[in-house]
Parts: sequence; C-alpha cells; structure tokens
Amino acid sequence: MLNSSLQQLGSALRARKISSVELTQLYLDRIAALNPALNAYITTKAETSLAQARAADALLAGGKAQALTGIPIAQKDIFCAKGWRTTCGSKMLENFIAPYDAHVIEQFNNAGAVNLGKTNMDEFAMGSSNETSHFGTVKNPWDRNAVPGGSSGGAACAVAARLCAAATGTDTGGSIRQPAALCGISGIKPTYGTVSRYGMIAFASSLDQAGPMGRSAEDLALMMNVMAGFDERDSTSLQHDKEDYARDLNKPLSGLRIGLPKEFFAEGMSSDVAKAIEAAIAEYKKLGATIVDISLPNSKLSVPVYYVLAPAEASSNLSRFDGVRYGYRAPEYTDLADMYEKSRAQGFGAEVKRRIMIGTYVLSHGYYDAYYLQAQKIRRLIAQDFTEAYKKCDVIMGPTSPSTAFKLGEKGDDPVQMYLSDIYTIAVNLAGLPGMSIPCGFGAASNGNPGMPVGLQIIGNYFDEARMLNVAHQYQLATDWHSRAPQGI
Ligand code: GLN
Repeated sequence: MLNSSLQQLGSALRARKISSVELTQLYLDRIAALNPALNAYITTKAETSLAQARAADALLAGGKAQALTGIPIAQKDIFCAKGWRTTCGSKMLENFIAPYDAHVIEQFNNAGAVNLGKTNMDEFAMGSSNETSHFGTVKNPWDRNAVPGGSSGGAACAVAARLCAAATGTDTGGSIRQPAALCGISGIKPTYGTVSRYGMIAFASSLDQAGPMGRSAEDLALMMNVMAGFDERDSTSLQHDKEDYARDLNKPLSGLRIGLPKEFFAEGMSSDVAKAIEAAIAEYKKLGATIVDISLPNSKLSVPVYYVLAPAEASSNLSRFDGVRYGYRAPEYTDLADMYEKSRAQGFGAEVKRRIMIGTYVLSHGYYDAYYLQAQKIRRLIAQDFTEAYKKCDVIMGPTSPSTAFKLGEKGDDPVQMYLSDIYTIAVNLAGLPGMSIPCGFGAASNGNPGMPVGLQIIGNYFDEARMLNVAHQYQLATDWHSRAPQGI
C-alpha cells in the first residue's frame, strides 16, 4: 500500500479492497511512530482525519467516488483549514485556528480526500532548509543529519518517508522543487495563477504558487486535476479552462526538443549533481529527444532580483501581523505603538525580520527607484529570455539544486549561501513559468553517509504542465529513481 500510486490506491478503495479508514489509520500509525524523529508534521488531528475517512467510505460505498476520494493527503501548514491550527511555521501564528478553508483545502474536501495533517515548513515559507521553522527542523529521511530542503521540507519528508500518499506545497522561489530534489520525490510548481492563493498565507504574492508533491509524475497529474482551477476570490487566478493533466502522460517523446541553458551548466554545480543530470539527459536522448543549446543571459541576476522583490512584497504582506487582529500579542506593553513593536519583535524569527527590514528599505522613498523599480525591470528581462528560448525548444532542463542535501546547521549562519540554494529555481518564479523536479539519481556515498538524491528540473512554457508531466512520466517509465525509498522506511 505504501508504495502504491494514487491511481492504484483509488482503485483499491473503489473496489473496497481497503477502506479509507484503514488507509488513514495506517498513515496515522506511521506518523505516530516516525514523526517524533523526522518532525515532518506540525499538527495532526486523528479524529478529524478519521471522520473525513468515514465520510469518504460512505461516498465510495455509494459509488460516488472521484479519483482521490478516501486518499490521505498532507497539507502544508500555509493553507488555512477550517478548525485546524494553521501556523505557517511561525510563533506569530502558533495558536491560530483558521476560521475558513483555503481554496486548495476546499478542492481536496470536494474531491473527498482526507486531510492527514499540516506539514512543517520554514517560518512564513522563508528558507531553503526548514531550519527557520518555529517548530524545529525537519530531518531528511535519507540522512537524518541532513536538511530536507525548504520551505516545503515537511511535505517532502512526509512523501519520501511514506507518511502520506501525496502532499501539497508552495513555491515562491523554489520551495516545492528544491525540497523535492533533496528528498528524492517529484513536485511541480504550476504556471503562476493556475492554483488559487485564496487562504494561502501570503509571502510574496506575485511569486507564490501552490502545487503538488508526490512520488511520481503520474501522481502529480491527479493532484493537479484537483488543485487547479479558476477562483474569483484570488484576483490573480487565471480564467483557464479545466484540463486533464494526465491526458498526455503516455505520449512518446520522439521529436521533443530539450533546451539546455549554458548558464545552468557553467560553474557552481557539484560533481554529484552534474553526473546525475548528464545521465538523465542521455536517457532522454534514448527516449527520442533532441538537445538544443540555449542561453538565459539574465538568469544570473535572478537571485539578487528575487531578494529585492520577495522581501518588498513580504514586508507589505506581513504588516498585517500586528498583534491586534490575529496571532501573537506581547503579554506586556505600555501603549499601542509599544504593543506593535513588542508583538512583532517577539513573534517573528530572525530570517523573517531580515526580510521585512530589507523589504521596507527597498520600498522606502529614495531607494525605491534604485532597487525595487530596477529589480522589476530585470524581472521582465529574465522572463523575456525564456520567451526567446521557447522559440527553439519545448522544455528546458537542468539541475534543481546546485548540491544534494547539505548538513543541518551547515548554512545557518550564512544567508547568502542559503539563498544560492535556489539559483536554478528562482528565475522560473520571476517569469511565472511552470517548473518541476523529479529524482534522477544519487550522489556518491562517503564515509558512512549515504548517497543523497539528485533532482532534475524540467521547466515548461506557460500552461505546458501536461507536457511536462508527460516528459517526466516517460522518464519514470524508463528509470526507477522515483520508486527508491530511504533506508528503514
Ligand atoms: N528559499 C527561498 C526563500 O527563502 C524560496 C522560498 C519559497 O519558495 N517559499 O525565499
């Protein structure tokens, strides 16, 4: 059961070979056994999950099941879920019980899926290692001394450790793809606007996008079918016809043109990653693809541009946490201004404060033109590079992350090193394009440390998710990296 695809689980549930209650209990027992060590979940509510499972069993018995009915899904703790504590990995929202469902949660509820729990994440989704979470670091199930990546590290860990059938994540600069790569699972960040941000706690609104994380491209397609769709409550939600993301999975890849950006293959990639990526490209050639050399000349500016724009948006979005409306309030203060100051000083962690300070600075009078406006202009150039590239190729490939999972604590004191973890992913968010990561090998094992997973990044043109899933699925039919499990799992 633990290694079954969502399709297989759905069939087993519909054939009544297993009930949703049994399946949910199986995962809850695993979470009880493994979560104390891995810390993938912040909150579980066994009774609530089991009640949802019973309702799903009734639908299944009545022949009213959809593809994911009865399947236990882990939800990133950035999505408001009615009656559930929704912390966003923060002290600020440590005791916040959401009064309504995010669009994503609603979609899974309507599909009859079971909410298995809320997964750990970096505080307000700011981070690449899950170490900024107020609820402690998440361990990488392949090596518990290594980070799982971030910010959706809890989700990636839960999928890799078989603590859920699949999970949701969000990706502002790489937070679905990078943890997917570091934990050896698959994840897709859809085209900006495909999945509604309603009820998803905002970090940088022009970049934030929710997407699925799972063990295979086939599973991601079924998750996308549930998550995607227009929602009038999000003003940037796209009016795009409903589509079946699994429709092209079985198309052969002959004639596919894969663009390899020369900038991604210059320097900076570890040799472990380089070897696995080269082998994956060779496999794609065997599958009938042709390779095209392309250039994304402005992509080298994506990290600095992101670290102007994302903090600017964050400083505005996080101004709502003032101790008045919701969230943490300092226990002692003298007047209103003092209450604001103390609540924010005590409620936010160091990384979040750093971003708020940078963001407020680049938006301030006198610096706005020099930083914020300039960054917006370069953002446009970065997007135009992709438009040019897609005249010559169908998808773009490269590494997801420059290295495999690094050790806990290794980059904690050096924010710039941490920011560089997303060097290959951030341009995709700045351009609003869809990007995914799939497992494509392992690094070398060394003195007692296991070889850690490597992720291949596939970047598509706008709305080309179905093709990307096809490209990933055909590779997963020919290889078995995606079906490996960490030792002891
Ligand atoms: N690691 C990046 C950051 O810290 C991206 C995070 C994300 O995608 N949520 O901002």
